[in-house]
Amino acid sequence: MRSSPKLKPGIWDALVALIVLVMAVGCACAVWTGDSDGGGELEAVVRMDADGTDTEIRMRLDGLNRVERTVTSNGYTLQIVLTETEAWVEASDCPTQDCVHTGHISRSGQSIVCLPARVIVQLVGGDGGDPGVDAVVG
Ligand SMILES: [Zn+2]
Repeated sequence: MRSSPKLKPGIWDALVALIVLVMAVGCACAVWTGDSDGGGELEAVVRMDADGTDTEIRMRLDGLNRVERTVTSNGYTLQIVLTETEAWVEASDCPTQDCVHTGHISRSGQSIVCLPARVIVQLVGGDGGDPGVDAVVG
């Protein structure tokens, strides 16, 4: 004698199902964002002020042969060299030459700044590494 009339799914069942679903999605998102952090390939980001417009050039360094880019920014011309592992300013007609003297950067977080030309060469991605404290700003 077992007659158990099935309960009709009410509002609470729907709510519980919804909460479970939200939690599942929330967990997935947390894992996802945590996982996507770090790693990746080294990328050079060159920011400049070309004709008064902020311009950004991004270039993957991985597998890159030596690439020279001449950028004109804020009235100055910089010759930037990118290789598979490094980036540097080869030559510049800015008055301070700090960007040239900064030398080569090869780690994520390092950057070369040319204030007169308003150019920033930055390395991002890669294995992380501490943000460049040894970069010269000038
Ligand atoms: Zn400079």
